[in-house]
Amino acid sequence: MTTIGVLALQGAVREHLRAVKACGATGVEVKRKEQLAEIDGLILPGGESTTIRRLIDSYGFFDAIQAFGKQGKPIFGTCAGMILMATAIQGQNQPHLGLIDMEVARNAFGRQVASFEANLEINGIADDFKAVFIRAPYATKVGADVTILSTYHEQIVTVQQGNFLATAFHPELTDDNRMIGYFVEMVEHAIGTNSSFRETNKI
Ligand code: GLN
Repeated sequence: MTTIGVLALQGAVREHLRAVKACGATGVEVKRKEQLAEIDGLILPGGESTTIRRLIDSYGFFDAIQAFGKQGKPIFGTCAGMILMATAIQGQNQPHLGLIDMEVARNAFGRQVASFEANLEINGIADDFKAVFIRAPYATKVGADVTILSTYHEQIVTVQQGNFLATAFHPELTDDNRMIGYFVEMVEHAIGTNSSFRETNKI
């Protein structure tokens, strides 16, 4: 059985576990870095990125998550998780984990429209995905190795770079599990249990 961990330091953990389970994989709350050895893929949930980063440091997760990613294991960052994965953050000197070659802007849709829903076309995944944005970031620049999977009003909101995936929205907050299902397929492909993983987004 494919096992997917959700970093459970702060944020929308339970909803991700529900969605992972609905996609036929086993979901595990990850609270200690040693648990990374027991999972095939990791979700960094939404929440508050500076808080999650502080907890990543205090629980000794920083090097362990980077090493997990360097081994080719899939990591999926949603909202605050996308910020954690970026190599640059507008207005800040230092990024966090620096896994995806992109610059992000935090709370980028403005405080007036802090939360909203939008129908997104996500390349190879869904043409009508109801995406929930909550004080969401977007990517302002991406490197040549990054595939843009969706935009909203021309802003980049879904990206993939090899075994790394990120969305500016919260895919776990509706019962449309196609986005998380895609990540589950990425993980299955990485461990060799899904040879028919769609060619277009092959990792
Ligand atoms: N605005 C938050 C941050 O900067 C992210 C919001 C979210 O994850 N829903 O960390």
